[in-house]
Amino acid sequence: MQINCGVVGVGYLGSHHARIYSELDKAHLVGVFDLNFERAREVAHRFHCEAFENVEALAKQCHAISVVTPTTTHAEVALQLLGLGCHLLIEKPLCVTLSEAEKVAKMADSCGRYVQVGHIEHYNPVTSFLETHVNEPRYITADRLAPFSPRGTDVGVVLDLMIHDLGIVLQLVNAAIESIEAVGVSVLSMGEDIANARIRFKNGCIANFNASRVSLKKVREIRVFQPNKYLSLDFMDQRGHLLYKEGLELKKEEVPLHKEEPLKVELGDFIDCILKTHQPKINGWVARSTLAVALQITDLIRQGIRE
Ligand code: NAD
Repeated sequence: MQINCGVVGVGYLGSHHARIYSELDKAHLVGVFDLNFERAREVAHRFHCEAFENVEALAKQCHAISVVTPTTTHAEVALQLLGLGCHLLIEKPLCVTLSEAEKVAKMADSCGRYVQVGHIEHYNPVTSFLETHVNEPRYITADRLAPFSPRGTDVGVVLDLMIHDLGIVLQLVNAAIESIEAVGVSVLSMGEDIANARIRFKNGCIANFNASRVSLKKVREIRVFQPNKYLSLDFMDQRGHLLYKEGLELKKEEVPLHKEEPLKVELGDFIDCILKTHQPKINGWVARSTLAVALQITDLIRQGIRE
């Protein structure tokens, strides 16, 4: 059985959603919609589907739709599509405020539709490895740096980039937060472009996050320190090392990872949730919790800037 799929917003990332739906066996790409109709036509032509002139017409023919519009529009687009009866994959961050996020999650529950949120690193083989090897995290560092692009600057760097690492670390540590400290500055956009945050968890674990979208190079790395063991992994190259103590020596082993395209795994999982009728692992409520921490960090940074 195939699920009829569509994409709303086919800019940079939406065109990849369209490509992947056109490749997945269990999906049938019906069409795309974008406020920029020329762009919709170009993407539809590339992936052999229809460019729709309005969102209602696309929704009528689809069971599942990806919302890949700018973040500030997610709530409005998502609420309309849920009202039209579609299951949704909404790109991260879910929304820009907690009240918007709650409205979307509640509406999904009340109309019996699934909302999965595009926290893509949860579908990276690096995260699967961490999930099976991290059992007593004491200290974590996560670095995510990217070259500047005006895309995504409708939100600050915490909601744009750091939120990926926040989602992973909150899940790995799985403990209540004791305190958060954060600093950041804006360099090229109106919001924060560089941010540094430290979260202390009630179980004693400390996590440090660095995010920048004013970097010459792209970096997506995480290090997790546990008693007698240390993991260093790269989300981008999908490789890394496990270092562990043996006697008085520190041994280093390459981590065996099977490389995969995370977006393909994520969209495949979304289709499976619909076919097998189970909640996505990153549903609206899980994404809302991560957003709450990201917004708290953003507030702390902005208070610091005002002082
Ligand atoms: P983009 O600017 O390249 O594309 C956005 C597209 O949406 C544009 O073509 C625009 O015309 C269209 N659009 C705007 N408002 C619309 C509306 N109301 N209805 C229909 N179309 C509309 O942006 P992008 O970089 O593709 O980012 C889109 C979303 O994806 C953002 O929320 C961003 O945070 C997210 N994103 C996630 C990741 C990830 O790693 N998961 C990576 C990049 C972007």
